Amino acid sequence: MSFDSLGLAPALLRALADYGYTQPTPIQSAAIPPALEGHDLLAAAQTGTGKTAAFALPLLHKLSSSGQTMTRRPRALVLTPTRELAAQVHENLRDYGKHMHVSAATIFGGVSMGPQINALRRGVDIVIATPGRLIDHMQQRTLDLSAVETLVLDEADRMLDMGFLPALKRILQSVPKKRQTLLFSATFAPAIKTLALEFMHNPREISVSAPNTVTTLVSHQVHPVDVSRKRDLLLHVLSQDSRRQSLVFSRTKHGADKLVTYLNASGMRTAAIHGNKSQNARTRALSDFKSARVTVLVATDIAARGIDIEQLPMVINFDLPSVAEDYVHRIGRTGRAGMEGLALSLVSHDESGLLHDIRKLLKQDIAITPVAGFEPSAPLRLDAGAPRPKQGGGGQRQPRQGKPFNSPRPNGSSTQGRGERAAGNQRRRSNHRPAAKA
Ligand code: AMP
Repeated sequence: MSFDSLGLAPALLRALADYGYTQPTPIQSAAIPPALEGHDLLAAAQTGTGKTAAFALPLLHKLSSSGQTMTRRPRALVLTPTRELAAQVHENLRDYGKHMHVSAATIFGGVSMGPQINALRRGVDIVIATPGRLIDHMQQRTLDLSAVETLVLDEADRMLDMGFLPALKRILQSVPKKRQTLLFSATFAPAIKTLALEFMHNPREISVSAPNTVTTLVSHQVHPVDVSRKRDLLLHVLSQDSRRQSLVFSRTKHGADKLVTYLNASGMRTAAIHGNKSQNARTRALSDFKSARVTVLVATDIAARGIDIEQLPMVINFDLPSVAEDYVHRIGRTGRAGMEGLALSLVSHDESGLLHDIRKLLKQDIAITPVAGFEPSAPLRLDAGAPRPKQGGGGQRQPRQGKPFNSPRPNGSSTQGRGERAAGNQRRRSNHRPAAKA
């Protein structure tokens, strides 16, 4: 199948040709025709499958075919869980819409509201937003959602994980009832289905890969190692090819900072991206990594969610994630768009139980290969009762005290950081399940 046969506007076909995209990916072939017909969609697709274009192209097509409104109130709203994903979706919309006259604004927390308010006042066709900051604008009446025709929920499962359900419901109640809703999610958890039933109109269900499966282009490897030698092993691995770019995951922000200091002192060009960094620092780290000015990007799970780095050959789990599903999200950053990738995990004895969970979720064995000179003092245990890291130590996220996550905020500040902490709490809770059940 080619893009030409999908009935997209000529301006979009030209943009696709500019980027050398000739064939739609499976999610695009499945989603674009029903979306163009105006149906609501419930689409299961992970990052890396081309899902952004699967909603961006029909959305832009609809804007191009119905002409511009005089008021330039936003006609399309895209909600994403993180700032980085919002910025990336904006970039994609700009790329695909380059031969059209559409304007878009990105609305997320961590930066001042002034420029966002100015952009909204000037008038935009598309708003790409994280839920917390969008609510801030709704409360301050700086955003009018009454002309929204298309609503996209991108990575809906992540938005729910991050505690955005109350914000989402509020936004869904504030957009016109007569609209098209396109929901994309890596998994169809029951809460997603409930949301769809309540707020969507007879959605078409599309699934191109089973939830929680990972692309076969990624090979998985584990190096068992003692905790005390992990940093040295990481440096050893990275030094094998100092030009190869790697995304390194740390479970904690504090741990990420410590790694960056250590790797920079060892001569690796390294930057960190996590929730305690200012938005400017996060944007800079990501663009330095994308332009190869830094070769190693150390990230926490939530900060890295959805970021699209082209042709990333390797993802390294310095710590295993405390929730197995996050492994799938982490390694979704490699083996993308037809490229092969390596997911390498440095696993210490106390993380054996987490490795057990991941193998169970992937339904496959992962090669466990010790590295000469870094052999662990005790072998990994791979049974259900295997040990797991203790909660709360080593700079783990702390439980949040005080107001509930989505209570009104008098100063109109962003909720994005709260989302990150809320997600941390949720994970902590889910980790309290008895090991025997895992
Ligand atoms: P996404 O899942 O939206 O994050 O997209 C993953 C990557 O695939 C991005 O780098 C896209 O630019 C790229 N991509 C999207 N659609 C196509 C296509 N039809 N052909 C080739 N690459 C694509």
